[in-house]
Amino acid sequence: ATPTAIMVGAGLGARRGVLFKNAMALEASAGIHTVVMDKTGTLTRGEPEVTDVISVGGDEDEVLRLVAAVERESEHPLADAVVRYAATRAIAAAQARHFENMPGHGATAVVDGHRVAVGNLRLIEGEGVDLAAVSARREELAATGRTVVIAAVDGRAAALIGIADAPRETSAAAVADLQGLGVEVVMLTGDNRATAERIAQRLGIDTVIAEVLPRDKAATIAELQRGGRKVAMVGDGVNDAPALAQADLGIAIGAGTDVAIETADLVLMRSDPLDVPTALRIGRGTVRKMR
Ligand code: ADP
Ligand code: MG
Repeated sequence: ATPTAIMVGAGLGARRGVLFKNAMALEASAGIHTVVMDKTGTLTRGEPEVTDVISVGGDEDEVLRLVAAVERESEHPLADAVVRYAATRAIAAAQARHFENMPGHGATAVVDGHRVAVGNLRLIEGEGVDLAAVSARREELAATGRTVVIAAVDGRAAALIGIADAPRETSAAAVADLQGLGVEVVMLTGDNRATAERIAQRLGIDTVIAEVLPRDKAATIAELQRGGRKVAMVGDGVNDAPALAQADLGIAIGAGTDVAIETADLVLMRSDPLDVPTALRIGRGTVRKMR
């Protein structure tokens, strides 16, 4: 590797806020076969907002009061969206006890003597809740690309909460550009399959790996690496760090968490997905000059 080619490549990147941490990151960028992109906060803005509340049976404000009490204790971005939404409806806060966070699933707690569970289908089914009455509406909501959070109170389905997180403006263009470079693009997410597929379809992504638990994201990357395929992972979250480390090229969104930025080989300071194909082009150009 000639130091000059590396310096030129690194300089080209730096001008666009594409920060290669070392020469190996530049070289890895040249040989990528597959780019795996996290959904929330990478392909989407990571600014989830509650768009729908469908309450079942009970009083909607009361259900939201219980749910917000649980979500106040959680640090998940979806929890934050629920808490902000409850505040806009001027719903008084309650105190949660015995709070339990279930990574990749949701959370449970006791509020005013009620057992409250908030999270995805797996969590609520695991609580033994009968979801027959809400499953059609849940599927409809997911088919629109919304993340559907289910709330159960005392073992009964109480509400469906639809949460939207808009794709970043350049996500679709970035996907098309990568595909034009001959790179396979994969979406990786902990979210529900129907929700993920709807968003992937909008962005032109053919391969979706959904409902992946945070602790399984790195193993998913390892599977994609089988047969010697070189895999880049683009992510923003604490959850993504092990996958960024496992990938041949870990790419962090600049607006992401410190852990992701520290773990990555390459940081996109502008948080623009279009800088992913830019990085691969710079890598290819650099390696060509080295030979
Ligand atoms: P992602 O990969 O999209 O960042 P996570 O792995 O953190 O998602 O979570 C997967 C799913 O679990 C979420 O889409 C959501 O349905 C559910 N979930 C996780 N934490 C919470 C929470 N605090 N409140 C509600 N739902 C949650
Ligand atoms: Mg994310």
